[in-house]
Amino acid sequence: SESLTVAELAKKIYREPSEIIKKLFLLGVMATINQVLDKDAIELIAGEYGVEVEEEIKIDTTDLEVYFTEDSAENLVERPSVVTIMGHVDHGKTTLLDSIRNTKVTEGEAGGITQHIGAYQVVENGKKITFLDTPGHAAFTTMRQRGAKITDITILVVAADDGVMPQTVEAINHAKAAEVPIIVAVNKMDKEAANADRVMQELTEHGLVSEAWGGDTIFVPLSAKTGEGIDNLLEMILLVGEVEEYKANPNRKAVGTVIEAQLDKGRGSVATLLVQNGTLKIGDPIVVGHTHGRVRAMVNDKGRRVKEAGPSTPVEITGLSDVPQAGDRFVVFDDEKTARQVGEARSQQALVAHRGEKSIVSLETLFEQL
Ligand code: GDP
Ligand code: MG
Repeated sequence: SESLTVAELAKKIYREPSEIIKKLFLLGVMATINQVLDKDAIELIAGEYGVEVEEEIKIDTTDLEVYFTEDSAENLVERPSVVTIMGHVDHGKTTLLDSIRNTKVTEGEAGGITQHIGAYQVVENGKKITFLDTPGHAAFTTMRQRGAKITDITILVVAADDGVMPQTVEAINHAKAAEVPIIVAVNKMDKEAANADRVMQELTEHGLVSEAWGGDTIFVPLSAKTGEGIDNLLEMILLVGEVEEYKANPNRKAVGTVIEAQLDKGRGSVATLLVQNGTLKIGDPIVVGHTHGRVRAMVNDKGRRVKEAGPSTPVEITGLSDVPQAGDRFVVFDDEKTARQVGEARSQQALVAHRGEKSIVSLETLFEQL
């Protein structure tokens, strides 16, 4: 029968030893990195990761989630918060996103204003914040469908002259289900009919109680149109970031999620990626969803060519053999051979799945014709 040390097991299942030690601790076992684990302990830990243990440990290396490992605490450093904006139609989501971008883009970057890669970063008090420019609902739907967590904080925009509406409630439910902290932006405060108290009152019924009323939800009155209050909102985002301590390890191979992707006539497959951990570099062998390749060129949200992108950075890449989908995961591999093997296995799986769908559809069509 097989026995492995914590370090050996960690390596086999693509996890950090510290993560295994933590898991064992939670299961009531104190272990060190060199601890020898017996078959039962190995099965217990492997089971936690859904890994089958027969004669030897079997792990599905074509499942990209396998590579989204936790890092040991000493390798973690602060990273920018990733923020999405949600709210009822016409309450000012787009105006707010544009307003934040325009007020925060510095002179030197002015040329980049027109650049649109589905996400952007601003600097407030020397700290970066990443905004996903995709509609918040779409981001959350994708996250739920694929189980990929991409946003840290959600800004709930509520128009002060309109109050809580159906999509406001929907947004709250999305954020709660994903356990993402909510900051309420009470928008359109420049309007005659603005009534922030009413918004606060109505949101109380949905469990969002302002700090002023003894709760713990941050409310920021603002006007996306005039820009009044936007600095305050950004400061509150930094505050939540400090409390939640979002961290990542920049010194590892990058993993993350596709924000958007399309086929460009001149450049081929173009994908905007959000680097969630590690640092993405030019030339990296990469698997993205069901496609793979090498990172050929990278462009940041200001339209500038960059050589690398660290945690929480959105970046547009070329060099993939096919177009991935929003919400797909990406993983960088040590060598091109492994990336190709995993990539080809995944595209094969996708093909088979696709064929399966097709045959079902054609059967249905057949029945309809009968
Ligand atoms: P979205 O559907 O949530 O993206 O809303 P939009 O950003 O498209 O805004 C809807 C309408 O509200 C537009 O006509 C905006 O100009 C207007 N609007 C947005 N924010 C403000 C604001 O702070 N004050 C005023 N007066 N109008 C605003
Ligand atoms: Mg809009």
